[in-house]
Amino acid sequence: MTARLPLAGAAAVRRWMWRTLLVHRRRFATMMLLFCLATLVGLVGPQVLGFLVDSVLTGTTTGRVDLLAGAFLAVLATQALLVRAARLRAAMLGEHLLAESREGMVSHALRLPLGTVEAAGTGDLLSRATTDVDRLDYTVRNAVPEITTALITVALTGTAMVFTSPPLACGMLVAVPLMVFSTRWYYPRSLPTIQRVMANWAEVQSSMHESVEGARTVAALRLAERRVARNEQALGRAVAAERRHRFLLSMWLPCLELSYVLPIAAILLIGGWAYQAGLAELGTIITVVLYAQAMANPFDELFMWLEELQVGHTALQRILGVREVPAADDARRAASTDGQCDLVLRDVRFSYRPDQEILHGIDLTVPVGQRLVIVGPSGAGKSTLGRLIAGISRPDSGSVAFGSTEVTGLPTEALRREVVLLTQEHHVFACTLRDNLALPDHEPTDDDLTDALKAVGLLDWVAALPDGLGTVLGSGGHPVPAARAQQLALARVLLADPHTVVLDEATSLLDNATSRELERSVSTLLSGRTVIAIAHRLHTARNADQVAVMSDGRIVELGSHAELLAAEGSYARLYRVAQPS
Ligand code: ATP
Repeated sequence: MTARLPLAGAAAVRRWMWRTLLVHRRRFATMMLLFCLATLVGLVGPQVLGFLVDSVLTGTTTGRVDLLAGAFLAVLATQALLVRAARLRAAMLGEHLLAESREGMVSHALRLPLGTVEAAGTGDLLSRATTDVDRLDYTVRNAVPEITTALITVALTGTAMVFTSPPLACGMLVAVPLMVFSTRWYYPRSLPTIQRVMANWAEVQSSMHESVEGARTVAALRLAERRVARNEQALGRAVAAERRHRFLLSMWLPCLELSYVLPIAAILLIGGWAYQAGLAELGTIITVVLYAQAMANPFDELFMWLEELQVGHTALQRILGVREVPAADDARRAASTDGQCDLVLRDVRFSYRPDQEILHGIDLTVPVGQRLVIVGPSGAGKSTLGRLIAGISRPDSGSVAFGSTEVTGLPTEALRREVVLLTQEHHVFACTLRDNLALPDHEPTDDDLTDALKAVGLLDWVAALPDGLGTVLGSGGHPVPAARAQQLALARVLLADPHTVVLDEATSLLDNATSRELERSVSTLLSGRTVIAIAHRLHTARNADQVAVMSDGRIVELGSHAELLAAEGSYARLYRVAQPS
């Protein structure tokens, strides 16, 4: 089960809308003005048509009929031009908002604590940055102008009806009870349903993303059926939520349709009576009926786009919700460490879930520049400890510090520069080998790159590449086997030159001989730096200054290789078993 990223509250959404409206007030005002003008011009059409009918009935010249027909066409053409200009403005405003919300979202997402993103699942973040931003763009571009136009059309058409014939206009009132009651029934039910629909689709995306990302693991462990079943479950939940939404719509929409037709019947009844009583002309009745018919469309648009507005509102809640997660740096105020302090862990406790403590009070000191190797059975908590030392996760209690500087107090930039965690998972970017090794704050020269590649044993491999350092690697480029990717990642660490390195089974994909050789050359290059190596091969521990044996979230043995062998504890037993006889 993942810990979803939050949804922003109604107040945060209102603040965003208000600020956006202020920033884009000119664009917004121009767009609204054009839509209003288009609507106003549109209202002149039925008046001209009603006038034409009355003129024909009372007798007129052909020239006058031609003139009125020409005026009617001119009105339609002007309205079309105004609508086009207004839609262009709406599209431009939409593009601005799309760019801003996507950029804001991505820049905040990049500063989120890694632990939070991992716990939420990258799919959730991805769907907020893509699908939800697109939905918001669609809403701003279409729903806002359409709703405004529909509202103005309804208001002005209603006013025109009242001015044309107040008794006939009363016929519209028969639609009110059905419209109001069905809408009041629908909206409170639809909003939570839409939220569930969107959250469930994000879950589908998340599940698909994980399956694709871990495709090799899925294939290797024959997990395809389980992954498919999981995707289907997520899909099933999304479909169930969609069905509920469709059910609500299927109840509401027929009521709306009926409420558009009822007024026309009522106006015709009242009109028949008024015509007989000499209170209304035929042309007047036609004009009011045309107005009533013309109201159905904006009402339909209004309700349809209000529905879309709910989707946009939920998308906005999801987008702004990401900003409610404090950025990693918000709580980090410490100055950077100078690499001259011991790494000290005091009574560190940590749990991924509230009821399941993984680390139970770890005390450990790694003197500056020393190498500590952590060994222990699978699930003992070694990687978790490595993540805490690298500042990726925050301890529930206790402290992980360089001297007096808490690791989680360091600004992210400084932390990533000073402490590097290298795990078994490496990413090879789809760009040149040179760019794959480049770092944000210093561009290594080709000589620096060659030295680093030599240290990790990749010089021969690079020599065989078609364009050397300029060879494009990664998807679509030159293939990089997993073991080579691990060596490349080590080269990146050497170039990054941090004062502390956490290696979490960083050579696990290499064979024993290559791993030994690589560790020797890397440890020479890393000498003087504090190294915490999580190892599954015990030979790694022989040259360590200290070895920590972990079991069930605790350090159960601590000392040098020789001391632990002499102590005849679990390390000594494991070491002897691991030695070739
Ligand atoms: P291995 O050698 O297999 O990598 P490890 O000693 O490094 O094991 P950890 O990976 O730190 O052990 O895991 C310690 C415990 O924490 C395990 O029980 C594991 O299931 C649990 N755990 C690890 N990561 C998570 C996570 N993201 N969410 C929940 N539990 C987790």
